[in-house]
Amino acid sequence: MWRDKGTRIKRLTFLLAVILCFSCVSCGRASGERTVSKTYFLMDTVIEIKLRCGEETAAPVFSACGEIMSGVEAVLSRTVSDSAVSRFNTEGQWQVDAAFSKVVQTALDVSGATDGAFDPTVEPIVSLWKRCEEQGRLPVEEELHECLAHVGTEHLVWEENTLTRTDPATALDLGAIGKGYAIDLVVDYLEKTEVPGGVVSFGGNVAVFGAKKNGEAYRIGLRDPQNTAGVLGYLSVPSGVISVSGDYERYVTINGARYHHIIDPKTGYPAESGLRSVAVLCEDGTLADALSTALFVMGVEEAMALYESAVFPFEAVFVTEDEIILTEGLAEGGRFEHTAKQYRLAS
Ligand code: FAD
Ligand code: MG
Repeated sequence: MWRDKGTRIKRLTFLLAVILCFSCVSCGRASGERTVSKTYFLMDTVIEIKLRCGEETAAPVFSACGEIMSGVEAVLSRTVSDSAVSRFNTEGQWQVDAAFSKVVQTALDVSGATDGAFDPTVEPIVSLWKRCEEQGRLPVEEELHECLAHVGTEHLVWEENTLTRTDPATALDLGAIGKGYAIDLVVDYLEKTEVPGGVVSFGGNVAVFGAKKNGEAYRIGLRDPQNTAGVLGYLSVPSGVISVSGDYERYVTINGARYHHIIDPKTGYPAESGLRSVAVLCEDGTLADALSTALFVMGVEEAMALYESAVFPFEAVFVTEDEIILTEGLAEGGRFEHTAKQYRLAS
C-alpha cells in the first residue's frame, strides 16, 4: 500500500493504458472527432482526463481540473500536515466548509447503512499496519484491540457542519471516499464547460460525462484480479461513475506475505469476504467510492441485501476467485460483456 511512488506511477500508467479501454477514443478517431488527454499524479494515484475536443479548448479546462483536484487533496489528505483531516486528527475538530459537508455526510450515511463495513475512523488500524510493515512484523492482538477501541462513528459528533470526536485517539482516514468526491467536483465542472463529453479515470474510479458523438454508451474495461494486465469484462456506461475496490492494487508485504489495504473494521484485519474485487456503478462518485469499499468488506450476501433494500441507488459487479456476480439491473440490462471465461457468470 505504501510502496515507491516512481515505480507505482510507471506501473499504474501502464495499467491505465492497458486496462481502461474507452471505446470513445477509437470511435472518436474513426468519425474524425478529436480527443485529447492529460495525466496527473495526485492523492498517490494516477489520474487521466480524456476530453472530446481540440487542444485549445482543453488547455484551460485541464488546468482548472488540476486545481479542483489539488484543492480536494489539500483538505482531505491525511498525509498533508495542514489539511482539514490532519488538523482533525491532531486537534479533534473540523469546521466543515459547506462544499465538503457532502463527504462527511456520505461517509456517515454509508457507515450507518453498512453496519460500519465502511468506517471513516479506520485510521488507527491503517496506521498500525503501516508501522508493522516498516518493522517487518504482524500486528499482535493487543495492538489491534487497542486501535479498534478508537474506531467507530460512535466516537464522532456531526452537528451544524462541525465534526468533533468524543475520543481523543479517534482519527479520520477518508482515502476510501475522497477520490470519489474529487471526481464528482471535476465532472460537475466539466459539464458546465463547452466540452461535449469525455472520461475521467481516477485510480479505481472512472466517470463518464456527456454523450458520445454517436450516442452510444461508454464501454469500460474491468480489471481481472487474477491477471491485473487483463480485463474480465466490459461495462456499458451511459453516465455516472464506476468505483472499484480490490485486494490486488495496494497492500503491505510482511514476512513475504501480502496483506491488502481494505480493512474489516470489526476485526482490524484485511477483509476476507471471499471477494477479489467489487465494481460499483452509480450516478454519484462519492457514494460509489464509499460503497465499493463497504461492499468489498461485506461480501456478496450482505451486499446483495443492501442492494435489494434500495437504501442507495447502485448497481455492482462482484468478483470472487471463480465467479462474476451481477446485480439485477446489470444482468437484465445486458450491460456487462463477459470476456474472461475462466470466471462463471452468475446473478
Ligand atoms: P478504497 O477501497 O476506495 O479505499 C481503501 C482505503 O481506505 C485504504 O487504503 C484505507 O486508507 C481506507 N480504508 C481501509 N478500509 C476501510 C474501511 N473499511 N472503511 C473506510 N476506509 C477504509 N496514499 C498514500 O500512500 N499517500 C498519499 O499521499 C495519499 N494521499 C491521498 C489524498 C487523498 C485526498 C485521498 C482521497 C487519498 C490519498 N491516498 C494517499 C490514499 C490512496 O489514494 C488510497 O490508498 C486510495 O484512496 C485507496 O483507494 P482504493 O480505490 O484503492 O480503495
Ligand atoms: Mg472506496
